[in-house]
Amino acid sequence: MKCLLCNGEMEKATVAYTVDRKGYHLFIEKFPAYVCSQCGEKYLDEKEVEVIQNIIKALDEKLQNASSLPACRLASLYHDSCADPREIP
Ligand SMILES: [Zn+2]
Repeated sequence: MKCLLCNGEMEKATVAYTVDRKGYHLFIEKFPAYVCSQCGEKYLDEKEVEVIQNIIKALDEKLQNASSLPACRLASLYHDSCADPREIP
């Protein structure tokens, strides 16, 4: 595998990966990638990109669910004062 920018040799490595989303930042400390030995350009495998996309999708859904929780349900997480505590998933 050659670098698209400088044609240098790509080496398998782990990189830090950050995703900036509305409402949160996802930081993955060690993620498998290819790094150019000449210019340092990073490339992610197609299937690794898919992994990240799945994580983001799952997080987005969870956060959406969390923000639509009734206040009562949220309160019951911390205090037992809720009149009708439902099961917390
Ligand atoms: Zn390069």
